[in-house]
Amino acid sequence: EKPFGIKEALSALGIQDINNGSSTGSENFASGDIIESYSPVNGSLISKVKSTSKADYEKVMEKATEAFKIWRKIPAPQRGEIVRQFGNKLRDLKEPLGKLVSYEMGKSYQEGLGEVQEMIDICDFAVGLSRQLHGLTMHSERPGHRMYEQYHSLGVVGIISAFNFPVAVWAWNTALAWVCGDVCVWKPSEKTPLCGIACQNIAAAVFKENDLPEGISCLINGDYKVGEMMTNDSRIPLVSATGSIRMGKIVAQAVASRLGKSLLELGGNNAIIVTPDADIKMTVIGAVFGAVGTAGQRCTSTRRLIIHESIYDKVKEALVSAYNQLRIGNPLDEKNHVGPLIDTEAVSLYKQALQKVVEEGGNLIVEGGVLEGEGYESGCYVKPAIAEAKNEFEIVQHETFAPVLYLLKYSGDVENAIEIQNGVVQGLSSAIMTNNLREAEKFLSIAGSDCGIANVNIGTSGAEIGGAFGGEKETGGGRESGSDAWKVYMRRQTNTINYTTELPLAQGIKFDL
Ligand code: NAD
Repeated sequence: EKPFGIKEALSALGIQDINNGSSTGSENFASGDIIESYSPVNGSLISKVKSTSKADYEKVMEKATEAFKIWRKIPAPQRGEIVRQFGNKLRDLKEPLGKLVSYEMGKSYQEGLGEVQEMIDICDFAVGLSRQLHGLTMHSERPGHRMYEQYHSLGVVGIISAFNFPVAVWAWNTALAWVCGDVCVWKPSEKTPLCGIACQNIAAAVFKENDLPEGISCLINGDYKVGEMMTNDSRIPLVSATGSIRMGKIVAQAVASRLGKSLLELGGNNAIIVTPDADIKMTVIGAVFGAVGTAGQRCTSTRRLIIHESIYDKVKEALVSAYNQLRIGNPLDEKNHVGPLIDTEAVSLYKQALQKVVEEGGNLIVEGGVLEGEGYESGCYVKPAIAEAKNEFEIVQHETFAPVLYLLKYSGDVENAIEIQNGVVQGLSSAIMTNNLREAEKFLSIAGSDCGIANVNIGTSGAEIGGAFGGEKETGGGRESGSDAWKVYMRRQTNTINYTTELPLAQGIKFDL
């Protein structure tokens, strides 16, 4: 029933047969409906989670609000020390947590471990950051005055996350928010609730060991209705939401209607431009990993290849030959390249996309299809597909969260390829494969890629925690993780101090009494 050491992993992570989906730390409760979590790997029921009712939510918010008053007063480097301990717990539990991610979400075990490694890395980053939450000092225009800015904690940060990175996205937000002095309330995807329970158990143990109050890390569970409790709650100054563009548009409007801040990390439609000067071998590896890795369920998955006509046939043949070698099956078995989609609903969307591209005049050169039989009982395994298409097709404009790759042809200069690359509503990740300096620099210039991420001689997929992560246009404009992404989790205050006995006004304005 529960293969590959899953039973042991669940037990190491404190997962029960029925889990309380609302938690303020060591206090776990919930009175809402039951969510059942099934593994896309083999279709088995993994475990159940009680979802959060309105009353549970109120209790969580009460604890979070109280905890904030204490947590914000603990010096930032001491908060960093707590995050350091949390990172160490993740190191100890990397294998069971990586396994749960793989089993509940369906990505390969290697990628599951990679996700936990990202959590560890962002903790390390946050520890250093805890001594660098600095503002600027400016010269006042008034004599005997000093002016500077400082960053203060914001309050309760709401985190809504997607199924495809069920643990890392939470950590990207929470590790930074914690060192910034915020407390967090997290609603994981209803498709991966157990990953949420596991992470909350790990965090809660650290806060408890350090005698810190309930509520610095809170968990709530359920579908969009539970998410809406946070988006409509004016006690939450910042909602960080990761997921589809459809969701982001609703969340952004709800949060904006109460003039709250939202940090949006939404869908992508990522392309690799392949120019006549590309290294074909590197291109094929980057494109195939980008398109089929995590079964095409990464926000940065490669969806479009924009290939110069002079090398189009050569790249096409190399891709088809690479796709023929792909092994599809259990993601916990390291010899497989492609695991399952998250659920059978995702399989239907994949099938519809293949049908639609043909209806619009596309040509399937690697056909795809749903796999049946031994090892594929969950009904979630599909064959990665490749279609020759045009950028203006409606289906190509749309993000299908599955391994479907569209080949688009361009002629003439790299500008034409850039125009195709930018000709979608999304703006997350982009890449160019070229050894030509002029083409690479054009792609990175102001007239180049309009995405939040633009790579040269690397695919679109995957990112390091050190950079700010996110995208433009309908991807939502948010930035998380490295660089100065921490600033969104704090409020900025400008301070002017007068150390004279005069009261001069700014801009030389006179006001004599
Ligand atoms: P989804 O939009 O269906 O759900 C994401 C989360 O939003 C879930 O927790 C869901 O319960 C919640 N939600 C949905 N409607 C809501 C509402 N009205 N109010 C409040 N919460 C609501 O997305 P998914 O299928 O879980 O994830 C796949 C999508 O996420 C893809 O589009 C992918 O590109 C995107 N994604 C983006 C990034 C990024 O960093 N840009 C990262 C991962 C995933």
